[in-house]
Amino acid sequence: MDIEDLIFPREAFLAPPPFDEGSPGDCYLQSSEGTTFKVLRHVLIHSSRYFERLFEGLPPSRPRDLPKLHVEEDAPTLHALLIILYPVHEDATKIGIEHTLKLIEIQDKYNIPGSAMTFFLTSIIGINVQKARDGLIDDPTGLYSLAWRIGFQLEAQLFSHHLHGIDLNDEKVAGELVRNSNSLKAYIALSDLRRRREAALDDIIEALEPRKHFCVAHSGSDMMFFAFISLMKNASRNALVAPWPQVNEGGAISFLGLQSEDESRAVAWCSSCYAGVDMRRLSDRLQKAVEKYPQEITM
Ligand SMILES: [Zn+2]
Repeated sequence: MDIEDLIFPREAFLAPPPFDEGSPGDCYLQSSEGTTFKVLRHVLIHSSRYFERLFEGLPPSRPRDLPKLHVEEDAPTLHALLIILYPVHEDATKIGIEHTLKLIEIQDKYNIPGSAMTFFLTSIIGINVQKARDGLIDDPTGLYSLAWRIGFQLEAQLFSHHLHGIDLNDEKVAGELVRNSNSLKAYIALSDLRRRREAALDDIIEALEPRKHFCVAHSGSDMMFFAFISLMKNASRNALVAPWPQVNEGGAISFLGLQSEDESRAVAWCSSCYAGVDMRRLSDRLQKAVEKYPQEITM
C-alpha cells in the first residue's frame, strides 16, 4: 500500500450490481483489501479456465452460507476482471485506463479469453478516439501507452496530440510510459516529437515577421530584439500545447496571448510594435505555420 493511501485512505470500494449482496450468486470472491463480490460460479467457469480450476471440488452452496474465495487483485481490478468475464451486464467501457492496463497484465493469469479482451480494448480505444478528436480525454498518457501496448499505432499517433504538456524529463512520467506501453519506442517517439516542435518554433516566429514589425526601441539593439524573440517563443510554445491549435477569429495576437492576462503567455508589448500591421495577413501567415507545426509522433 502507498504511504499516500495510508494517510488519505481511499473510499472503500463497494461492489456494484450485479456483484452486490442483492444480486443472485452462489459464491463470494474477496479482493486483496477485503471487498466481496457475489458471483455466479457457472458464468465464470464458462468464461475462464482459471475460475474453472478455482471452483473445482467446491461443494454446492447452501443459501445462507455461501463460500468465500480470495483473489489476489485489488477491488477495482477484480471488478474490471468480472465485468470482462460476465456477459456484459455493465458497460465495460467505464473501466478506466489504469485498470485496463492492469487487465492486460493479468490476462494470462486469469485466462481471460482473447476474444473478450479484443472486443473490450477495441471499444475503449474507439470511444476515446472520438473524444480525442472532439476535445479533451481523461488520462491521455495512459491511453497513448495502451495504444502502443496493443499495437494500435494510428491511435497512438492521435493520442500524442494530447501530450504536449507532459514533462518528459520527469522520471516518474517516463517510467510509467515505458512500463505501461511495454516499449521504449513509445517514449522515444514522444521525445522526438518534442525536439521537432522546439526546432519548428523558429518557423512560427518567422511567420510573425518580428524584424519588420518591432518598433525601433525594441529592435535597435540585438539584446533587446533577442529578449523579445525569446518572449514570443515562450508565448508560442504555450499556445501550441493545445491538441488542435487554431488561429481563429481572434487572430495572431490573441492566439499568442500577447495581450493576455495569463502571465505565461503575455508579452509586454509596446503600442508601437506591430503598429498598423495588416493583422489579417499576419494571422493567415501564422495559421499556415501552425498547420505545418509538428503535432503528432511519426511512425
Ligand atoms: Zn516596441
